[in-house]
Parts: sequence; structure tokens; C-alpha cells
Amino acid sequence: MTDGAAARVDFNAPTLIGRERDYVLEVLHGPATQAGNGRFTKRAQAALEELLYADAARRGGVLLTTSCTAALEMGMLLAELQPGDEVILPSFTFASTANAIVLRNAVPAFVDVRADTLNLDERLVEQAITPRTRAICVVHYAGVACEMDAINAVAARHGLMVIEDAAQGMFATYRGRPLGTFGALSAFSFHETKNIISGEGGAIAVNDPALMQRAEIVWEKGTDRVRFKRGLVDKYTWVDVGSSYLPNEMTAAFLLAQLEAGEGATHRRLAMWRRYHDLLAPLEARGLLTRPCPPMHCGHNGHIYFVLAPDATARARWLAAFAEAGIGAVIHYVPLHSAPAGRRFGRPTGELAVTDDVAARLIRLPLHLQLTPEAQDRVVELLERLAAR
Ligand SMILES: *Cc1c(COP(=O)(O)O)cnc(C)c1O
Repeated sequence: MTDGAAARVDFNAPTLIGRERDYVLEVLHGPATQAGNGRFTKRAQAALEELLYADAARRGGVLLTTSCTAALEMGMLLAELQPGDEVILPSFTFASTANAIVLRNAVPAFVDVRADTLNLDERLVEQAITPRTRAICVVHYAGVACEMDAINAVAARHGLMVIEDAAQGMFATYRGRPLGTFGALSAFSFHETKNIISGEGGAIAVNDPALMQRAEIVWEKGTDRVRFKRGLVDKYTWVDVGSSYLPNEMTAAFLLAQLEAGEGATHRRLAMWRRYHDLLAPLEARGLLTRPCPPMHCGHNGHIYFVLAPDATARARWLAAFAEAGIGAVIHYVPLHSAPAGRRFGRPTGELAVTDDVAARLIRLPLHLQLTPEAQDRVVELLERLAAR
């Protein structure tokens, strides 16, 4: 970069990848409904079910939601948490994971993450269990799977429900099986910052068939409207607690197009992820920064490319230089156990030293489907200059 006129490199750029325009226009031109649970919702749900369960012995069902936040709220409601019950989760996650628990008057019990994947450290879960623990909520950070074999084994030993915050996990796998199929319930996000998008949007995967009927009621404002539309009851009425968790048909139509083209888009994104990874290998070899290291058995989706600066001071300096250069490089979570609401509503278990350390050093680099190799080179060249200083 030789002058100040170099173009900005955006951190994210929501991208149309398929038939989004056609499908949304189909809804707008009618006459089918624009409200929720119409034909595009059914098609998008079927597409998600095909992606999640095509090769699985255990088949579940998917309901679209207005966001992953809404899906998590549904999940904690379906888990039947009682006031004072505890749910184990990482502190290194988005507020919505914990909010869903607190909205049930239950307590988020924060556990530290692994230094390599930044995921809930499965070796610390058992010691965080108390007589009030009801569930374990895992978060697949950056689309890299948590150690689901170990976590499901602990949960089975203690009779706990497993809920997956798979907000970042679409098109990612653990030992070859899609994320979102390991917990009793799983939440996905289609927010415009995720890999598969619909502006705002989400879905809940219900992998325990015993929970599906109640899930459909909670989803439709606590009514049995889904059963009514199937002709199973002759009128619908208020039968349980619930809320309005279903998205409109424009959102579902947009999402369907994204899902149809999602596998190819994920491959393109992964190629960019690997390009960063290769270009930054020499800096890591010289001990100047740390790259992500997803385990071989976690088939990730390239959701986030991050680096860890040597310390918080270096990170502040690097972020200032990125801002100066017009490059959208950003930090990620402020650990929830030290956030104001986390201190008020939650309970840390142990020191959470890894969480505090990585949260203070992490920088996410620009990564989206419109990112060019030239822009990636600029990001890498700046990092080379900063790290070598
Ligand atoms: C993005 C995200 C959410 C929230 O998703 P929305 O669809 O914006 O509600 C929740 N948890 C994690 C881990 C996320 O990355």
C-alpha cells in the first residue's frame, strides 16, 4: 500500500449466492402467505433436515426461528429449567447463550475453554456439576466442533440435557456428522455475519422426538396451530406457554436460496481460510503470533479466521494499525463472566484463565465471499510488518 487511497477491506460483506431474488419475489407476488410457516418455511426446514440428517440413523426435525437468540430461548424453555437450576456453558460466547438461561431465572455456570479450539473445555465440565445442574450448553466457536463424545458421555452419566449453540456451525461436522445433531436441541444463526444468512434468522433442531410436539406449540405462540394446519384438530387454541418465534416467508425464501448454494459457498470460504492459514504460517513459526488449530476430526466451515497477538498491548497496537489502513479487523467476545450482567446473573467455576487470556489477544481478520486475494495479501502484509516490529 503506497498511498492513503487504498480501498477499504470490509470485515464482512453479506453476499447473494443463489436464487435469493427469485424466491423473495415469488413471495412478494403472492398469493401464498407472507406470514410464517408457509411454503418457503416448509422448504427451508426440509432442506435443513436433509443437510443435518441425510446420513444419520437418528432423524430430528427443524423449525425456522427469527434468530439464534430466539432458538436458544425456545431451547431453554423446552429444557424446562426451574428457577435456580444451573446450565454449564463457556464464558467465551455471545450474550444470547447466557440470556436464554437467565430468562428462565436459571443460572449460567461459566466454565473455561480449551486454548486450542476456544471451545468449552470438556475436561472441566464434570467438576462444575452441582445438584442444581440441568444442562450443558456447548458453543462451536468459529464452526469448530466441541468434543461431543466426551461431553455427551458426561451428560449421560449425570442425566443432563445437551444443548448446542451451533450459531456458527452450519455445514461443519464432528467425526463426519453435522453439528447440530449431537444435543437434544440445537440453535443455528442466519444473521448476516454468519456463513449462511437471511438478514436476521435462525433455526432450532429438535433431535429428541419427545420434544417436537411441544416445540411446535412454543413456536406458534403457545397454540396448537401447527396441528390444526395439519388437520389433526378442528380448531386451534392456547394450550401452553410460547411466543412468536417463526420468521416471515420473505426471510424463509432468502434462506432457502442460501441453503441450496451453501455447500459451494462453504468451500469457497474454506479456501480463503486456508490461504490466510498458509500465508501466516511463517509468522507463527517465528513465534510472532498464534494461528487457529482446528483438530483433524472437526470438519470446520471457515467461519472465522483469527490470530492471537502476543499480548493485549500488541493487540491494541495492531487494531489501531488495521483501522488506520482501512482494514476491518475486530476483536470478539468480552468474557461473559466479567461482563456486568454475567457478574449479576452468572457463576464462574474456577479461574477461567484461558478465556481471559485469549479474549484479550484475539483479532478476527476480514473473511467473506467477496474478499479478493489482493485484499487478503494486504491484510497479511500489514500483519507481517506489525508482528515483526
Ligand atoms: C451469532 C451468535 C448468536 C446469536 O445469533 P442471532 O441469530 O444473531 O440471534 C448466538 N450465539 C453465538 C455463539 C453466535 O455466534
